Amino acid sequence: MAGLIREESIAEVREKARIDDVVSEHVSLRNAGGGSLKGLCPFHDEKSPSFHVTPSRGFFHCFGCQAGGDVIKFVMDIDALSFAEAVERLADKFGVQLRREEGDVREDRPRGPQRNRLVEAHKAAQQFYAEQLSTPDALVARQFLAERGFDQSAAEMFGVGFAPRDGDALFKHLRQKAFSQEELVVGGLVAVGRSAYDRFRGRLLWPIREAGGDTIGFGARRIFEDDRIDAKYLNTSETPIYKKSQVLYGIDLARKDMARSSQAVVVEGYTDVMACHLAGVTTAVATCGTAFGDEHARVLRRFMHDHEEFRGEVIFAFDGDAAGQKAALRTFGGDQNFVSQTYVTVEPDGMDPCDLRIKQGDAAVRELVARRVPLYRFVLGNVVGKYDLDRADSRVDALREGARLVSSIRDRSKVDAFARELAGMVGVDIEQARGEVRRATSRGPAKPDQRGARRAEPEAPAPPAPRNPVPDLRDPRFALERETLKLVIQHPMAIGRTTSDIGTDDFTHPVYRAVWELVAAAGGPVAGSGDASWAGRLRDAATDPAVSSAISALAVEPIRTAKEPDAAYVSMHVFRLLELTAMRRIADLKSRLQRTNPVENATEYNRMFGELAALEQHRRTLRERTVGAT
Ligand code: ZN
Repeated sequence: MAGLIREESIAEVREKARIDDVVSEHVSLRNAGGGSLKGLCPFHDEKSPSFHVTPSRGFFHCFGCQAGGDVIKFVMDIDALSFAEAVERLADKFGVQLRREEGDVREDRPRGPQRNRLVEAHKAAQQFYAEQLSTPDALVARQFLAERGFDQSAAEMFGVGFAPRDGDALFKHLRQKAFSQEELVVGGLVAVGRSAYDRFRGRLLWPIREAGGDTIGFGARRIFEDDRIDAKYLNTSETPIYKKSQVLYGIDLARKDMARSSQAVVVEGYTDVMACHLAGVTTAVATCGTAFGDEHARVLRRFMHDHEEFRGEVIFAFDGDAAGQKAALRTFGGDQNFVSQTYVTVEPDGMDPCDLRIKQGDAAVRELVARRVPLYRFVLGNVVGKYDLDRADSRVDALREGARLVSSIRDRSKVDAFARELAGMVGVDIEQARGEVRRATSRGPAKPDQRGARRAEPEAPAPPAPRNPVPDLRDPRFALERETLKLVIQHPMAIGRTTSDIGTDDFTHPVYRAVWELVAAAGGPVAGSGDASWAGRLRDAATDPAVSSAISALAVEPIRTAKEPDAAYVSMHVFRLLELTAMRRIADLKSRLQRTNPVENATEYNRMFGELAALEQHRRTLRERTVGAT
C-alpha cells in the first residue's frame, strides 16, 4: 500500500496521537503509579489488569500476552491494519497532513469528511436505530428476531436496530446532531434524489463493526411485504471507512477468542453469527453480502496471530448445497497456506447455525463446528461421491477426477498425503493413486501456456466428465459379451443346453445388457431353439434404436470359429463370462473392504470378508470349467 509516507510525517503522527487517548477508546485505564496506566488487556482474556501504558514514552505492553509497541502498533493490532493503514487512520483522526515521498500522486488528493466524523455519524445512527427497535412500528422486526430465537438481550448484545419506514427519520435526527449532509452521504447513511433520504427504510439492521468496535456500516434485512426493494439484504456500499472485501461481521466480538484459540468460524449470515456466539461458538464471523476472499483471509490470519507461520484453523460452515460447494472449491483455488488450514462443516439436513440452534439447541451448533473436516477432504469427497464406487468403471473415473484435483494442489509437499487420502476414499491401493496423480500432473491443464504470458488462473477442478457415456460396442472390453450374445441369437439351443446361470449382471455394456433383458423377457435362450424368427422377435421387442440395431448386427456377424460352434466353444464363452462377473464382484468387494474400517464396522467387515472368500471359491470353479471346456 502506501509505503512511501515520509519519516517526518510518521514522527508527527507519533507525537500528536497520544497513546493514552488512543488506548482509552478500547481499554479503561487507571493509574498504576510511576507515570504508568493499566487496564484489562484488549488482546487476551484476563481478570486482573496486566496491560500497561506509559504515555511519556509512548509505549504499551501487556505482561500477560507480551503484546506491546507504540501507538501505531496498537492501532495495527486492535484494528488488524497494515503499518501504512494505521498511520493513515491516526493521521486522519489527529489532523496530520501526511507527506509522501515524491512520485506518490496521492499527496494532493482531495480529502472528504474525516474518518472520525463518519465513525461518529455511524455511532449516532446505531443508537438511533437500536432505540427504534422498541417502538410499535418495529413489531415485525421484533417478531423476526423472536422467531429465530433472539430475545431482547441478544438484540442488545449485537446492537440490532430498526430503520423506520418514513423516508428521512435518520437524516433529520443526524442533521439535528450537526452532521453535514455531505458526511451522511459519503458515509453511506443517506442518499440524495430530489431530496435527501435514508439509505435504509423499514428494515431490520445489524451494525457492522470494526475489530475495535467502531460501527462502520449496516446490514439490513427486508421484513415488510411491501418493501419496494426486493433484495433480502442490503449492505452499506463501499465508503471511505467501509471496505466490503475486508469487513467481517462479528469480528469485534470474535477477535479475542480467535487470538486465544487460533480458530475462526466463518458462517453465512448475520443471524448465524448471532446464533453461534449465543451457543458458545465465540469465534464466528460472516462476510457482509460478498463472497469470502483473500482479503478476508488476510484479516483472519492477522487476528489469529499468524504472521509468519499459519497454524490456526479456519472453519467454514458452508451450506451443503451446490452454492456452498462452489464456495468451498473457490477457497480451494486460493492461498494454499490458508487452504491447508481450512476446514469445512456441513449440516446434513442443510440447516444453517441459526435454524440448528432453534430446532436442536446450543449444543448442536457446537457439535456442528466440532465435526469439521479438512477442506481438501471435503472437496475430494464431493468429487468422489458423485461416482458409484461399487462399480469398477466408476472407480476408475472417480480416481481420475480425484487425481486431477490432487495434481492441482500447488504445495507439492502435500500431494502424497492427498493421494493417500484419495486411495482410501476410492478404495484402491496407494500406488495406483500415486500413478494416476503423476499422469494427471504430466497431462495437466494446470501447465502455464507456452508463451508464458499469462499466469495460470487458480486451478479450479475441471467439470466432471459426462456420466456413463455409451462406449463403443466393438470395444475389445466387450468382445466376450458380444460373442456370447451372438451365440444366444444365432445358436440359442447350444446356450440353453449349457447353462441357465447367465444374468443381466454378466453384461456391462448398457446396450448388451438391454439385449439380454429382451432375451430373458422372451423366456431365455431356450425359447429361441428351433424358432427361425427368434432374432426378429427380439428385434421387434426392442424400443431403443441402438438396441434393435445391435440385435441385427449380432444376428448376422459370423461366429469367430470356423466350424459349427460346439458345446466346448459355447461353454468356454459362458463360463468365461461368468468368471469375469465374479472377478468384478471380487474387485468391488475388495474396494469396499478397503473403504471399511475393520474396527469401527467389524460386523460389516467380517460379513464382506466371508462373502469375498465364497466368491473366490466360485471364481476358481468357473475357471476350472472354462479350462476344462477347451
Ligand atoms: Zn495481553
